[in-house]
Amino acid sequence: MKKIKLAVAAGSFCGGCDMSIINLNEMLIPIEEAIELVFWQVASDFKFKDVEALEDNEIDICLYHGPIRTSEHAEIAHLFRKKSKVMIAYGSCSCFGGIPQLANPYNAQTVLEAVYTNGYNIDESGPNQNFMRPKSEYKKGRAMTLPKLLDSCLPLTSEVDVNYFVPGCPPVPAQWEILVSVITNFIKTGELPPKGTVVAGDTALCEECGREKPEEIVINRFRRPFEVDPDPEKCLLSQGIICMGPATRSGCGGQCTLGANMPCRGCFGPAPDVQDPGLKMLSAIASIGGAKIEAELGPEGLKKLMESIPDPFGTFYRFSTPEYIIKTKKKVAEEESSKK
Ligand code: SF4
Ligand code: SF4
Ligand code: SF4
Repeated sequence: MKKIKLAVAAGSFCGGCDMSIINLNEMLIPIEEAIELVFWQVASDFKFKDVEALEDNEIDICLYHGPIRTSEHAEIAHLFRKKSKVMIAYGSCSCFGGIPQLANPYNAQTVLEAVYTNGYNIDESGPNQNFMRPKSEYKKGRAMTLPKLLDSCLPLTSEVDVNYFVPGCPPVPAQWEILVSVITNFIKTGELPPKGTVVAGDTALCEECGREKPEEIVINRFRRPFEVDPDPEKCLLSQGIICMGPATRSGCGGQCTLGANMPCRGCFGPAPDVQDPGLKMLSAIASIGGAKIEAELGPEGLKKLMESIPDPFGTFYRFSTPEYIIKTKKKVAEEESSKK
C-alpha cells in the first residue's frame, strides 16, 4: 500500500500541541503503518531544505500548529501550503491566534520594549543590564537575519488557505478519534470531508456541560475561581464565576467545567454563529439574571459589577482577537507612518 506523507509544522508554538500528539500512544496504531512522516521537528532532525526539495503537493496532510507571530512563521506556512494537498490548522493558536494573540492590543515595538526594556526583572541590576535585544549576527561569514516580529499575532488563515480546523489548547483525544477516521478513510477511498470542516462540536459548550442553571440569580460581583469553592452541580456563571461556555464551541467534553470544576476559558474558539465572544458573554451575563439583576443593582451597582471583571480583553478574548481591533491597529499604524 502506498504510504501517505504527513508533516507537522509550526509557527510560534509552545510544545503543548506536539505533546497532544505524542500522548495519543496506541490511538495512532490504525494509521501508523500507513504514514510516512516527512517533517516534525519534535520527532527528529528534519530540515527545511528537504521540504523545499519536495514536489508541490507531495505532502498529503500537514498539521500546522502555532500562530503567525513573525515573518519566519509566515514563510514556513507558505512553504508547507505549497508542498501539501491538505493543510490543517491544529490547535487554538493556529485556528485563532491563541494565547500569544493576547499581545494584540499592542504593536511590535511596544511588545519588544515590554520584554527587553521594561519587563519584569529587567533593570540595571537584572539579568539584561544593557537592555540587549536580539539582533542579526554574522556566523562563519554568513549573515543570519533575524525574523521580523509582526505587529499582530494572527491565525494561519491570515497567510494561507486552510482545509480543516482542529481547535483546542491543545486538542483532545476525542478530536483525534475523528481525525484518525478521516485519515483512514482518505487512505482507503481518497475522500475527504468538506473544506472548512471544524473537528469539534457544533453547539455552544453549555449544551455539552449541562450544569444546572437556577431560575433566578443576582450577582453582586464576579469572583475569581480561587475566591470560592464552587458547587460542582450548578452553572459556574450563576455562581459569579466568569465561564466562557455560552460563547465557546463544544467538543472538549467539558474538560474544565466538568472535569476540573473550573470555568471554561474559551480554548475551542467561538461557538458556531458567534462573531464576537465578548459581546456574546455580555448578553449571556445579562440573560442569566435578567431584569432582576438590573432592578436590584441599579446603574451604580451594574457599573461595579462590570468593573469586577478582571482584565476584560484577557477574559473575553483569550484565544482570538476580534477583527475590528486588528483593523483599527492597522489604520492607526498607517496614519502614523503617513505623518512621518
Ligand atoms: S494551542 Fe495551546 S498547546 Fe497548542 S501551541 Fe498554542 S498555546 Fe501551545
Ligand atoms: S456557563 Fe459554564 S458552567 Fe455554566 S452551563 Fe455553560 S459551560 Fe457549564
Ligand atoms: S472547557 Fe473550555 S477552556 Fe476547557 S478545554 Fe473545554 S473549551 Fe477549552
